[in-house]
Amino acid sequence: MIIRMNPKSSKDDFDNLKKYFENKGCKVKDISSDSVKLYGIIGDTSKLDPDQVESLSGVSEVTRITAPYKLASLQVHPEPTVIDVNGVKIGGGTFTVIAGPCSVENHDQIVSVAKDVKEAGAKILRGGAFKPRTSPYSFQGLEAEGLDLLEEAREETKLPIITELMSEDMIERFERDVDIIQIGARNMQNFHLLKEVGKRTTKPILLKRGASATIEEWLMAAEYIMASGNQNVILCERGIRTFEKYTRNTLDISAVLAVKQLSHLPVFIDPSHAAGRWDMVEDLSKAALAVGADGIIIEVHNDPANALCDGPQSLKPEKFKHLMEDLRKIAPIVGKKM
Ligand code: PEP
Ligand code: MN
Repeated sequence: MIIRMNPKSSKDDFDNLKKYFENKGCKVKDISSDSVKLYGIIGDTSKLDPDQVESLSGVSEVTRITAPYKLASLQVHPEPTVIDVNGVKIGGGTFTVIAGPCSVENHDQIVSVAKDVKEAGAKILRGGAFKPRTSPYSFQGLEAEGLDLLEEAREETKLPIITELMSEDMIERFERDVDIIQIGARNMQNFHLLKEVGKRTTKPILLKRGASATIEEWLMAAEYIMASGNQNVILCERGIRTFEKYTRNTLDISAVLAVKQLSHLPVFIDPSHAAGRWDMVEDLSKAALAVGADGIIIEVHNDPANALCDGPQSLKPEKFKHLMEDLRKIAPIVGKKM
């Protein structure tokens, strides 16, 4: 529910309004701009009577929001959210490229890939330290040591770093040392973890869409983080599970358009995990730019044949460089800055 107050309404009117909603178990969030006094009502407003709310002193208009997510919705926040990551802008007309290996493997590997992707024009370095692997016998990531190595790569290249958080015990370390926290597809509905990153950090969260999640479930996962206090959420479509087996997942490219109709949050595409094969990654990245995504997160490895994780979907640095050249040519045509 959104309340527009009369411009002449008083502080008492606002205090009464706040008390009214708090008694109903809801919170009042100020979403005013310079010209209008607007308040979003957060919580279960389904049983509230809009006519009764409209009769409260100072209220000029009440609009019901039909979507179950509020803070993530475009109705509550009509301007696109722009997130600043150490000076790198995410959203609002910029196409941002995040690149790096699936996993951090050793110092030379991560530093060499970091230098290559930076030279090609990537703005943020990715690298998994804690890996959610289907098999317990697969490489699980270097864990805390992987974070140390990512920090060394940041030190050498000055690229901000993103890596996946799997457990709440590492939130303090991530809050201190990581620039964007990734919540992976497998944890999209780990509601406890979503609430903890909402409460305990204001670092931007890149929230991958679960492999079987609907767009509404994905936005509700974002809502968990936002309702717990962290508004800096970046959505990421990474392919969903369908009957098709030719690709690892099916890239739901129209999800970007749906999110743009429903939410103000920036939305990325991960073509690497969507396709699962490097020979589709360049063209899917161009499709991401053309469809209006705010960026891509893509896997690049200096030696894909010997990568400890996801080699078959990783681009070699030369291919990545070529892709970046093409993206820079396309960006102005679709009205994006790079
Ligand atoms: C990843 O980006 O390393 C990853 C595991 O992705 P997802 O959660 O999308 O599978
Ligand atoms: Mn991977």
